[in-house]
Amino acid sequence: MYTKLGFNEDVVNYAISKEKEIKNLFEDIDEIAEYNQIKVLNAMKLAKLADSDFLVSTGYGYSDITRDKLEMIYANVFESEAALVRPNLISGTHALSVALFGLLRPNDELLSPAGALYDTMQEVIGIRNSTGSLKEYGINYSQVDLKGDEFDYAQIKEKISDRTKVIIIQRSKGYSTRKSFTIEKISELISFIKNIKKDIIVLVDNCYGEFVEKLEPTQVGADVIVGSLIKNPGGGLAPIGGYIVGKEELIEKISYRLSAPGLGREVGASLGISKMMLQGLFLAPSVVASALKTAIFAAKLYQDLGYEVIPGFDEKRTDIIQSIVLSSEEKILSFCKGIQSASPVDSFVTPIGGEMPGYESNVVMAAGAFTQGSSIELSADAPIREPYAVYFQGGLTYLHGKYGIISSLNEVGLVRVDKK
Ligand SMILES: *Cc1c(COP(=O)(O)O)cnc(C)c1O
Repeated sequence: MYTKLGFNEDVVNYAISKEKEIKNLFEDIDEIAEYNQIKVLNAMKLAKLADSDFLVSTGYGYSDITRDKLEMIYANVFESEAALVRPNLISGTHALSVALFGLLRPNDELLSPAGALYDTMQEVIGIRNSTGSLKEYGINYSQVDLKGDEFDYAQIKEKISDRTKVIIIQRSKGYSTRKSFTIEKISELISFIKNIKKDIIVLVDNCYGEFVEKLEPTQVGADVIVGSLIKNPGGGLAPIGGYIVGKEELIEKISYRLSAPGLGREVGASLGISKMMLQGLFLAPSVVASALKTAIFAAKLYQDLGYEVIPGFDEKRTDIIQSIVLSSEEKILSFCKGIQSASPVDSFVTPIGGEMPGYESNVVMAAGAFTQGSSIELSADAPIREPYAVYFQGGLTYLHGKYGIISSLNEVGLVRVDKK
């Protein structure tokens, strides 16, 4: 098929030979997926999810049983107490924003102990001027930068004060070239922090991390975790949504920000979408496994040509993101063109850089997804700035992911480069 479609033969042969060298890594991924599949299934059994639960609620959404069971199942999957899983949490940023506004009050301080946060969070916090930020409400922010790849424990200890109310840890690297934090590392950091101040609330931005490992941050001490349903846990089926999972008392507090004081969790019609969220969650462990295999395949192909790839193809993973430092705008655009043209939707368009709300520099995004902007579907994006790295993720099936990566290399070209 590749030849028939006019792909460069050398590219295809190279890709196929490299795939043979990574097949052994797929076994570990399948083992984790199997563990997580049973975890999800068991949560559905425990909630006694029934055919008669699939109702379409409207209006206020009182007694929306599908929504309530969905939230019970999420709480159980992440081994925590309560959850908000809602279609009106419109994205990861929105879910994070709702959680932070729900937990913080004027004069409180939010601390990031592990460096800068995801681009869109800068405006939520008010680091970049923006209307309605936490800063406008008198909520302070401080940050301890990483020391190389490590947490700067001495500085973290120094920065924690009486005012420090919430600690935010971002598991995935976002648009930076640091490593993503494994559950083991997050666990160490949380223990350290809780030893200094027991009642501090630890919130983990879990975007892109769900089901990559056997444990989730809530199982190693995080009080609240937040993520997007058009990433991992939506399994490609959730058409919209975000989740906030955590301690009962904290989720309760956040719920009054999500809807209104006095109303909380009891309201919010899910309009029949919860069923897709449930089915997506059911598929999520397998879908995440496909995305991980795609990421490993991409890392291997580009790493062996001399490109810097983060993580390396055989490194332990804690999220589905693969970054490849391509070192030029031209190659970024070629890579994205290859991914876009390999998409089932909008395959005929050529992505170019442009302004995006919430992002500081121009960003190019390749995504031919069934759900707009879904990044559990094969997608690539790159801020057009140094070091010209492309961040790529997803692949609902490995077979499609593989095709997409071969297509990207077909555009970038089979050239060896000197590793910087
Ligand atoms: C995607 C992402 C977000 C924001 O999610 P959106 O759904 O794009 O708003 C926040 N943090 C991290 C680490 C992410 O990957």
